[in-house]
Amino acid sequence: MDNNAGAKGVGPLIAQSSEISRTLKQQIFEHVRGAGLCARVDISSSLQISPATVTSIINELIQAGFIHEVTTPPREGEPVRGRPPVSIAIRNDAFYVAGIKTNDKTHTAVIMDFAGNMLGSADIAHNSASRSASNILNEVNAVLQHALNASGIEHTQLSAIGLGLPGLIDCAAGKVIWSPMLDQQNIAFASLASDALGCPVYIDNDTNLVTLAELWFGKGRTVSDFAVVTIEHGIGMGLVVNHRIYRGAHGVGMELGHTKVQLDGALCRCGQRGCLEAYVADYALVREASTALNFDPSEMGDIGLVLDRLFDEAKSGHEAATTIFKRAGRYLATGLANVINLFDPSLVILSGARMQYDFLYEDEVLHEMERQTLDWQRTRPDIEVHTWGDLLWAQGAAALALSELTETLLGVSYTNQSAGAN
Ligand SMILES: [Zn+2]
Repeated sequence: MDNNAGAKGVGPLIAQSSEISRTLKQQIFEHVRGAGLCARVDISSSLQISPATVTSIINELIQAGFIHEVTTPPREGEPVRGRPPVSIAIRNDAFYVAGIKTNDKTHTAVIMDFAGNMLGSADIAHNSASRSASNILNEVNAVLQHALNASGIEHTQLSAIGLGLPGLIDCAAGKVIWSPMLDQQNIAFASLASDALGCPVYIDNDTNLVTLAELWFGKGRTVSDFAVVTIEHGIGMGLVVNHRIYRGAHGVGMELGHTKVQLDGALCRCGQRGCLEAYVADYALVREASTALNFDPSEMGDIGLVLDRLFDEAKSGHEAATTIFKRAGRYLATGLANVINLFDPSLVILSGARMQYDFLYEDEVLHEMERQTLDWQRTRPDIEVHTWGDLLWAQGAAALALSELTETLLGVSYTNQSAGAN
C-alpha cells in the first residue's frame, strides 16, 4: 500500500459509465418505465429533480420518440373539469426486442415491445446431435421466426436480441467460455449470433436470465438485494445488489454449485471434490438412487424418469429414497445458509425444474438453513419457491435485450461488446 497518496488522490475511481453514475435522463426514463404511467409532478417528487429539469428531459425523450404523453380519461362518474390530466408513458411501438432461451431439448423465444409487453412466443423441440455454433444459430433463427410470426412483427423491426445459454458465459465480452450446448470453448458467440441474426445479440447464462425475469417482471421489482438459486442439471445462482444484477469481474461468479460443502467429498462433474452440486444436482441423486433402489440408471434412459421414480418411491414411504432427498436437502440448507451469511439478501427465490421435489425445501431444510445462519437478531430472508419454465427464462432474455438497448439509446452501455455499438 502506498501511504503517500498526495498527487494520486484517494477514494474509489468510478468510471463515467459506471452504474453508480446514472444520468438524470436514465433515472427519469427508468422511473417512467417502472411506473407504467406517471405524471410529471410525480417524477419530480419521487426523484427529487426540479420540475424544470424534468420537463426539459421529458421533452428530449419525447422528441427522441422513446416516450409519449397520454391523456388519462376521467374515471366513471368523475366530473370533467378543464383539460384532462396528461401522463407520461413509454412508447410501446418505439422498438421491439426478442428473448431466446436454448437448452438441450427445446428452444423458446418471446417478442416484446419497448414497454416490456409480451407480444408472442414460440418453442421448438430439437434433438440434433450437432453442437456447432452454426447449427445452434440455425435452430435459434427458426424459433425466432416462429415467435415473430406469432407476434405480427417483422425480423427487420427487431433492435436487440437477448440469448441465454447454460454454462459459463462472459456477458460483457459476449463470450461463451464453456457451454454444454456448444462443441467449442472460448468462442465470441454474441458477435457470431449478431451476424447470423442480423441484429445486436447479447448473451448471458440462463440463471442470470431467470434472475432478470424476477427483477423486471416478478417479486424482485420491489426488492433491492435478492438472490435466486436454481436447481436444474446443476445448481445456479443469480444475485441482485442494489437493483442491479451482479456478474463479477469476469462474468463467471455465483457458482454456488461448486462451493465446497465437504473436504475430499463426492466427485463433482467439474472434476473437483465436495461441491454442493455433487450432493444435490440431478446426477448426484441418480447416483444415490441407483444404489438405494438397486437399478442400473443407464437402463432407465432419461434422467428425469429416474428422478420421478425416486420421488414417487420417497412419497410412498420408501425409506432409502426418502433419505436421499432429505440428505440432499441438508446440503442445500448449507448452501443457502452460506448465501445468506455472505450476501444478507432480503429474499431468496428457489427456482428450476427440480423444485418439484418438495423435500428440498420442506420445513426441516429451512430450519437447518436457519441453524447455520449467523443470528445477528436479523429477520430471516423470505424464502420463496417460484414457478419456472422456459417461457419465464426467455422473458428474462428479453429483459436483457431491453436493458442493453435502453443503455445504448440513452448513451451508456454496460457492456463493451461490439454488437451493442450499432
Ligand atoms: Zn464442482
